[in-house]
Amino acid sequence: MSAAVPAPGRARLPAVHLLLDDATCAPLLAQYGREQTVDAVRAELELLRAALFGGAAASPAGTAVQDAPDTSAAAILARTAERLRRANAPTLRAVYNLTGTVLHTNLGRALLPDEAVQAVVEALRWPMNLEWDIETGTRGDRDSLVEAQLRELTGAEAVTIVNNNAAAVLLMLNSLAQGREVIVSRGELVEIGGAFRIPDIMTRAGATLREVGTTNRTHPRDYAENAGPATAMMLKVHCSNYAITGFTREVTLPELAPLARERGIPLAVDLGSGTLVDLERYGLPHETTVRETLAQGADLVTFSGDKLLGGPQCGIIAGRRDLVEAIKRNPLKRALRVSKLTLAALAPVLNLYRAPDLLPQRLTTLRLLTRPAADMRALAESLLDPMRAALGDDYTVDTAPMASQIGSGALPVDRLPSHGLAIRARAGLRGNPLGVLERRLRALPRPVVGRIADDTLWLDLRCLEAGQREAFAAQLTQLQA
Ligand SMILES: *Cc1c(COP(=O)(O)O)cnc(C)c1O
Repeated sequence: MSAAVPAPGRARLPAVHLLLDDATCAPLLAQYGREQTVDAVRAELELLRAALFGGAAASPAGTAVQDAPDTSAAAILARTAERLRRANAPTLRAVYNLTGTVLHTNLGRALLPDEAVQAVVEALRWPMNLEWDIETGTRGDRDSLVEAQLRELTGAEAVTIVNNNAAAVLLMLNSLAQGREVIVSRGELVEIGGAFRIPDIMTRAGATLREVGTTNRTHPRDYAENAGPATAMMLKVHCSNYAITGFTREVTLPELAPLARERGIPLAVDLGSGTLVDLERYGLPHETTVRETLAQGADLVTFSGDKLLGGPQCGIIAGRRDLVEAIKRNPLKRALRVSKLTLAALAPVLNLYRAPDLLPQRLTTLRLLTRPAADMRALAESLLDPMRAALGDDYTVDTAPMASQIGSGALPVDRLPSHGLAIRARAGLRGNPLGVLERRLRALPRPVVGRIADDTLWLDLRCLEAGQREAFAAQLTQLQA
C-alpha cells in the first residue's frame, strides 16, 4: 500500500505523540518510563489497526470481535495502562494455601516469623558484616553467623550452611567420598519430589553407590560385609515421603555407629526435614531430632532449613569438626553457599528455639502445626455464609472435618485433625463445575489453592490465620463474576 494513499479510516486513530502528550499518559510515563510506554501505546494502536483493517483476526483486549472498537484517546490509554500493569505485575505472588499441607514445597514451604522478615529487610537495605569480623576488623566466615546457635541447639562440633538440603548431601558426598564407595541400604534409596534421587546425587557427587540389604530388610551384617578399603562413608537416608511397613528390618544408628567407628568410616545421616526440638512436647508425633541423631553416633547430619525447622530455604550440615572442615575446603562450597538474606532470616529463627516454651506462638510453622481443630472449625463456620453467597446455587458448601499433613516429607503418614469447607457441585450440572470453581479461585487477586478429591473441593483452613480472615472473605465477592 502506498504511503500517499492512507487506508480508509486510518485517520480515525490518534497519533502516538498526541497520546503521549495526553494528560492521562503522564502517570504512565512517570511510572513505567518512556520506552515501555511508547511500545505499549504502539502495540495497542497495532491491535486497533488490525481490528479495523485486518479482518476479525485480532481485537483489542476486552473488545468483542464483532463490536466496533473504541478508538478514542481515553480508551486507548486505558488499555495501554492495563497492558503496562499486566506486564509489570509480580510473577511471584502471595496465595492462600488451603491445601491442608503446611510445608508445601510448591507454595514455598515454611512461612517465616516477623523477626526473620525484618532481618531480611535490613539485610537487603544495608551493608552487613557477612564475611567481616566486627571484633577484629578482619575477614570473617559467613557460617560463623549461625554456628554458635546451631552448635548449642544440636550438640554438633561444627556446622556449615548451603543453599538447600540437596546441596548439603551433594557437597558432603563430593567432599568425603569422591572416587570411593558409599554404603546405603536398599530400603533408603529415596526419591524426593523434584528429581532428588539418592543414586543420581551419588553419581553427580562422583561417589559410587554400594547398595546393601533389600527393600524391606537390611541387617547390620549387610553393612559389615560390604565395608572395606574402598568405603568412604555409610549413609542413612530418612524415608521422608513413604513408610515401609510389614516384614521390615532397619539398622538403627545405635547398631551401626559402633561398626562405623571400629572401621574408621564416617557415618552420615540425611535427616531430610530435621527438627531441633522434640515435637511430642507440643502434641505432635515424634520426629528424631538432629541432637538425638548426633548423640546416637552419626558423624554428620544434613537437614533442610525450610521444613520443620521453620526457617528459610537452606541446607545445614552439622557434626564432627574435622569432617565439616573438609567439606568447607571443597571449592563446591563456594558455588553452593547461601546469601546474606538466608543467614539474616535463619539467625532470628534459631533464636526462637532458645525459648522452647514460647515456640508454638512464635514460630509460624509450629503455630500452624499445633493449631487446634476447634480454631479451624470456628473459622469454617464464620466463612460458611460468605462462601455460600459467593458461589450461588450451583454449589453446596458445608463445614467438614479434614486431615492436614505436615508436608515436605516430614512424618509422611501422620495426619493432623483439621477443619474447613467442603464444596460440591449440585447434581445435574454439565461440564466440570469443580474444575471451573478451582479456576475461579485461582483467578482471585490472591489466588486460593485447595484440593479436589472425591468430587469435592476441600479448603482446609489450618493455614488461614485469624488475622487474614477478613481479607479472605472480602475477595470472595469477586468470585461471583
Ligand atoms: C527434603 C529432603 C531432601 C531435599 O531437601 P531440600 O531442602 O528440598 O533440598 C533431601 N533428603 C531428604 C531425606 C529430604 O526429606
